[in-house]
Amino acid sequence: MTDGPPRPPDRPREPGFGIDDVLGGPAPWTVMIRRGLRRRCPRCGGGRLFRTRYRLEDRCPTCGYRFEREPGFFLGAWFLNFMLVETVHFVLVMAFIVWKASHPDAGLAVPLALGLASGVALPIACYPWSQTVWAAIDLAMTPLELGEIVDAADAADAADAARASDAARASDAIDPDDG
Ligand SMILES: [Zn+2]
Repeated sequence: MTDGPPRPPDRPREPGFGIDDVLGGPAPWTVMIRRGLRRRCPRCGGGRLFRTRYRLEDRCPTCGYRFEREPGFFLGAWFLNFMLVETVHFVLVMAFIVWKASHPDAGLAVPLALGLASGVALPIACYPWSQTVWAAIDLAMTPLELGEIVDAADAADAADAARASDAARASDAIDPDDG
């Protein structure tokens, strides 16, 4: 689960809002969760979803899917993160109890330090995945409505146009003979 080179989305997007956007329907929820675990868009599988390591873009740059569909999206991501950390700590505490039974004289400093360190580091480290997995759960539970599909297509077209004009400007700047 590391940042690899950017890969193309699972299915290239045609420009504009198409009937396939509606008739194609959502991906199976297992596919969406897998995409979330790879920190990719649950809807199209596209990448580059993060502005910074922890800050999700407002929309998928590939399909225009808006992650925060309603207020409270990030609360869901936070809650998922919390559940994950609590599960890991439950396992750690159970392991500690078993270990302590066979090492009754061992001190508490190291287990306490481990618990504290993981309590701080785990939620920070896991937060990006919590956001994309939560986006997948959200989309699986509540499929996009027609208005959202059209809105996403419009946003993706605008993003494509902006990228194309940026690329054209960059190639103008590189090639002094052109213009
Ligand atoms: Zn997408």
